[in-house]
Amino acid sequence: MREENTMYLVKDGLKYCKVCGEPKEAYFPAGGFMGMKKHSRQCACDRKAYEEEQRYFKEKEHRELVSRNTRICFEESRMEEWTFENADMSDAVMNKAKNYVESWNKMKRNHIGLLLWEPVGTGKSYVSGCIANALLKQEVTVKMTNFNTIIDDIFPLADKTEYINALASYELLIIDDLGVERNSEYALGIVFSVIDRRIRSGRPLIVTTNLPLKELKNETMLEKKRIYDRILEMCTPIYVGGTSKREKIASMKMDKAKKMLEGAERRMNEDE
Ligand SMILES: [Zn+2]
Repeated sequence: MREENTMYLVKDGLKYCKVCGEPKEAYFPAGGFMGMKKHSRQCACDRKAYEEEQRYFKEKEHRELVSRNTRICFEESRMEEWTFENADMSDAVMNKAKNYVESWNKMKRNHIGLLLWEPVGTGKSYVSGCIANALLKQEVTVKMTNFNTIIDDIFPLADKTEYINALASYELLIIDDLGVERNSEYALGIVFSVIDRRIRSGRPLIVTTNLPLKELKNETMLEKKRIYDRILEMCTPIYVGGTSKREKIASMKMDKAKKMLEGAERRMNEDE
């Protein structure tokens, strides 16, 4: 066959690959096998093609799993952009967050969570989003949500336990913005159930809050105190201080505007 001639070379009755030079056939041991003398074998090119195909499917599977888990994790798609790659890594808190991800197995084993507190600004959500995205890429299941969503979701459900158990089943649960939810007895009951169930699961929990740490530690209202005590038991407090991302962007814009105005002023003076 013409086609074969471009691919193979026949030597001693066996086909050889013209590219790598390895035989594409081999003889069965003496006597043959069920009447056959030869069998086909993979040459180096075949093995390479097979490995590449395997790698391709493995990567595809990984990408699909990560993208599925990411969709489940976040309630807003813009949060997918909150990554260490996009962040200002000169920030000390960002580095602590990255260390948390790098020590994930240890954190998980020791049930260590984080309490990111920041009275004003949105840095705490951003930091926890970065942790979520980095772990999602390692095929860790993460859910990032907040109590307003949880309370709205749970309200019409006949079986609230199932929902609470589902939240406890993610490898990492992030509750964003504790303290902004409604203050009713019902709402606080849900908050306690979720936190308590999560902590009893032994899986790490990250909480972000606009409440100052001192307030969490000194809460006197019983319904709140039992929630905060549970959180402080498991979550290492980190103050997300300094300027918030929003303030940073605003100040960058201000600087830019200032420079532009200074330039304009200089040009005006030069014109005079
Ligand atoms: Zn070959």
